Amino acid sequence: MTEWEDLIPAPRSRFLRVKCLKCGNEQVVFSNAVNEVTCNVCGNVLAEPSSGRAKIKGEIVTVFE
Ligand SMILES: [Zn+2]
Repeated sequence: MTEWEDLIPAPRSRFLRVKCLKCGNEQVVFSNAVNEVTCNVCGNVLAEPSSGRAKIKGEIVTVFE
């Protein structure tokens, strides 16, 4: 799993395209999501809120600048 903290040095909020590890669906997740984000297709958790920014549970495909 990609540690996107390593890719983004500054703690800025971003939009990420995250691929669901369960079904392969890709959807856009806000990096500072305050609510749990689930896959629109299978309901698998893609991001969990944690202190400051979300913990991404899927594969990060794209980081939007
Ligand atoms: Zn899914």
